[in-house]
Amino acid sequence: MTAQEIRQAFLDFFRSKGHKIVPSAPIVSKDDPTLMFTNAGMNQFKDFFLGNQTPDIPRIADTQKCMRVSGKHNDLEDVGRDGTHHTMFEMLGNWSFGDYFKKEAIAWSWELLTEVYGIPKDRLYATVFGGDEGEGLPSDEEAKAFWMEYLPASHILYGNKKDNFWEMGETGPCGPCSEIHIDLRPEAEIEAQPGAELVNMDHPKVVEIWNNVFIQFNRKADGALEKLPAAHVDTGMGFERLCMVLQGKTVTYDTDVFTPLLRKIETITGLSYGGSYAPDAKADMAMRVLADHVRAVAFTIADGQLPSNTGAGYVIRRILRRAVRYYYSFLNMQEPLLCQLVPVLAAEMGGFFPELKGQEGQIVRIIEAEEKTFLNTLEKGISRFESLDAKGGLIQGQDAFELYDTFGFPIDLTRLMAAERGWQVDEAGFEKALQAQKDRSRADAHKKVGDWHIVREGEEVAFVGYDELSVSEAAV
Ligand code: ATP
Ligand code: MG
Ligand code: MG
Ligand code: MG
Repeated sequence: MTAQEIRQAFLDFFRSKGHKIVPSAPIVSKDDPTLMFTNAGMNQFKDFFLGNQTPDIPRIADTQKCMRVSGKHNDLEDVGRDGTHHTMFEMLGNWSFGDYFKKEAIAWSWELLTEVYGIPKDRLYATVFGGDEGEGLPSDEEAKAFWMEYLPASHILYGNKKDNFWEMGETGPCGPCSEIHIDLRPEAEIEAQPGAELVNMDHPKVVEIWNNVFIQFNRKADGALEKLPAAHVDTGMGFERLCMVLQGKTVTYDTDVFTPLLRKIETITGLSYGGSYAPDAKADMAMRVLADHVRAVAFTIADGQLPSNTGAGYVIRRILRRAVRYYYSFLNMQEPLLCQLVPVLAAEMGGFFPELKGQEGQIVRIIEAEEKTFLNTLEKGISRFESLDAKGGLIQGQDAFELYDTFGFPIDLTRLMAAERGWQVDEAGFEKALQAQKDRSRADAHKKVGDWHIVREGEEVAFVGYDELSVSEAAV
């Protein structure tokens, strides 16, 4: 099945179960001050769960454009490094607002996965909430009993509060969840070790694909739980991961969601994508990062958020610059590349997301201009590098930090250029300067908004280059 067919089959299936299919909400969350980007399918239905609004029909399904680069869900560090976490991804979801509950939700997940999509049953595992005595939370024996109709007991596992209990916040709607995982290892490996041991362990081939949340409690201000008068179902399945499973792959980048982008990157760079995840396979990693980041940037611009110096616009600018940094450092490209991927993305996804097709030309122009500006900064950094006085073949930590902070040079690039000249970098000195900057920005904390650590509202940030996207990012 192609990605298009897989998405359509999901929507058709839930339509056949009485769900209304609604469009994705924008990826930039405009009305919610607690969130910069939509990070789950349920965001747009928050008011239904809180009881502030009632939907005209209690069953809804859709695919939601999501982004997980900040706050509670920040997957940026994993992007390109593993084959299952993206910045932007689609979350397929079905909802019941006070209508059906655990029995139907579980039965339909099973029917869809095994009958419509034909996933082998013996590869599937379900987790259910195992309870938490300290918090007075009961285990979800109900969900377990429904799963027992389909799965052997050895494929049903109890999970902890972190993985299997969902809360919107300190107070409000909450409840246990049940996650579906799939074992994608070769038969021989499965015989040697049961998959159950690997579920919830971040194993690259035993992958979580679908989360079914059963919202049945309300947490009150005093911490006590009360039963909600009407219970809800909220599910989310990673579309790219589902495509991976159905197309017989073990990483999302090998599906037709990403291969057209990777092929285009190969054509532009003249390099070939080797598909390696080894830490030193920097070019392969860079290609994955580009294929991922162009989606985040293009979809965000399509939804009206331009790159800028504050808020979500700043996050997008930094993701774009992160992509530039990768092709500049590891693919030997000094010309705008990301903008050239937009037509491929629009051709692949513009059918389902017309906002992408409709604004294609504008998205290309905006990305190209951003890339040019940043490449220019990187060039200036090179001049600065060349003017450095590397006494005794050592680049001072403070100089490496200036290259990083003002000209967007990741330490990797400085190290690389130093090595070409037979020089070394005072990395300890660099780390020290970096730490000092972090301490300063922490002291500035009162100026920050949102959950992105140097975003400042209403204030132009003195930033001309790339700096870290998150604390350990400098290690990339
Ligand atoms: P994981 O444990 O793999 O990080 P999660 O538990 O954080 O996933 P949920 O919040 O349960 O994810 O979201 C529902 C589904 O969305 C997941 O089961 C997964 O298939 C998908 N998903 C979550 N994060 C990402 C991501 N960064 N990229 C692609 N798909 C994702
Ligand atoms: Mg996660
Ligand atoms: Mg998880
Ligand atoms: Mg999950």
